[in-house]
Amino acid sequence: MKKTYIELKEAFEGFLAGAITPEALKPVAAPLGIYQQRDGNFMVRVRINGGEIACEKLVGLAGILDAAGGHAHLTSRQDIQLHDVPAAHVVDAVVASDRLGLPFKGGGGNTYRNIAVGSDSGLAPDTVFDVYPYAHALNRAMQRVEKAFALPRKLKIGLFANERDRLRAAVQDLGFVAQIRDGVEGFTVFVAGGLGRESSVGLELIGFLPGPQIVRAAVALTELFYDHGDRANRHQARLRFLLKRMGAEAFQRLYLEYFARTAAPVIHVQAEDQGSPLIQGLKRGRTAKPVAGFEMWKHFAVSPTRFGDTVKSVRLFVPYGNLDAGQLRMVAALAAEYGSPFVRLLASQDILIPLVHISALPGLYKRLRQELAEIDLTFTSYKGHIVTCVGASVCKIGMADSPAVADLIAVALDRHLPPDTPEKLRLLKLAADDLRISGCPNSCAGHPAAKIGIECLKRREGDEIKTFAALFAGAGVGADGKVRLSERLPGEPVRLEHLTQKVLELVLQVAQ
Ligand code: SF4
Repeated sequence: MKKTYIELKEAFEGFLAGAITPEALKPVAAPLGIYQQRDGNFMVRVRINGGEIACEKLVGLAGILDAAGGHAHLTSRQDIQLHDVPAAHVVDAVVASDRLGLPFKGGGGNTYRNIAVGSDSGLAPDTVFDVYPYAHALNRAMQRVEKAFALPRKLKIGLFANERDRLRAAVQDLGFVAQIRDGVEGFTVFVAGGLGRESSVGLELIGFLPGPQIVRAAVALTELFYDHGDRANRHQARLRFLLKRMGAEAFQRLYLEYFARTAAPVIHVQAEDQGSPLIQGLKRGRTAKPVAGFEMWKHFAVSPTRFGDTVKSVRLFVPYGNLDAGQLRMVAALAAEYGSPFVRLLASQDILIPLVHISALPGLYKRLRQELAEIDLTFTSYKGHIVTCVGASVCKIGMADSPAVADLIAVALDRHLPPDTPEKLRLLKLAADDLRISGCPNSCAGHPAAKIGIECLKRREGDEIKTFAALFAGAGVGADGKVRLSERLPGEPVRLEHLTQKVLELVLQVAQ
């Protein structure tokens, strides 16, 4: 057993015997991504690099849930969290995940976190190039950089295959956007962006970084952060505060000094075209009479790919990002049966089956509706499909139960915006992709980077503490390429009873 797992085992044994407090357990468990929930059970975060995971590993995780209890939660950072795991089962879950090839190192705490990747990389027709091979090479290299696991605060890296994702790249501590210059693959590099208290857009640090230099760029930033980050004040420790203190020019100068002296390896990424070899093996469907609802579903759940008109990607809308063991197994089995040996987890807490033959779509839709009828994977209601953080019912430091707030809004959207016209379909996409709700200003749902964001807070009214919501809008990328976050709308935070009307108005306004 790895040294960190032995320490974890000893700490949990002490905790279960009552000899170790939750506070004493945290420094051992948190850096691995293990946190105690509000109800006393544990959340065990499994790193899924870029959210790309083989179907057989999903089945393995389902087996772990069978033994440990709890359910899987897909996160906006493309990890899979095992929720509601009793203390007595945590270590077994960790060791079993490791055996699946999903090791625990840096899932939480002051470490380099899961790499985020734009999930349509290598699939979408407008992909600049597939960044997944870079994400996997970078993760392998970073796992060996010990300083990346002893940082002043967490460090988030993201890679994106398209200019469309410029905003997402600009809110990472280190964000890369693919571009090709003179036939060479490379990246625009953003640093020190971040969401949370004092959210900010990162600095565009390097206009074009040749692809093979990506590890060097990440290690240089890690070293800089390790040496210069604020270890005294946790609330000012993220990289964006260092950038603010130093100013852009001094930060850039310092970074380039680190870059010049960093001896990290130049990596040569082998372009792995994951898609092409699989196309011939995709399951074909018989021409059957499509089931009611199929045509509408096709509009919002099915995306084109660069593999031609007959190969599509299919998004499974996962309510609240939650799946129990049986559902996880069924989803994995369906994806594999239709010809995709892997799936991708989306920042919207959904699942993408990357490759499905067009002729198989009606059959797949029918099976999603019939075999997984207890879970709304096809978006028949907004309920569960508005992206939120886990909220205060799970999170110990949260202020509001953000999924419950989303449910209130979903009822109003279901009433006013069912997907029965093209106009309303547009609104559905907006609500599913660009509306985000965080249960406190920590912004774990990423609401400042959403076109419509909601931040919950508590306020005292007489003798009662009530939940209010502050509304944000305006995030996007300007014609000049400049990225902007959503700004808090003028006026006082609204009470929950007025929120649904306000959000509905805002959805209609933003969709204009
Ligand atoms: S935004 Fe707040 S409530 Fe939500 S998960 Fe983060 S810390 Fe918890």
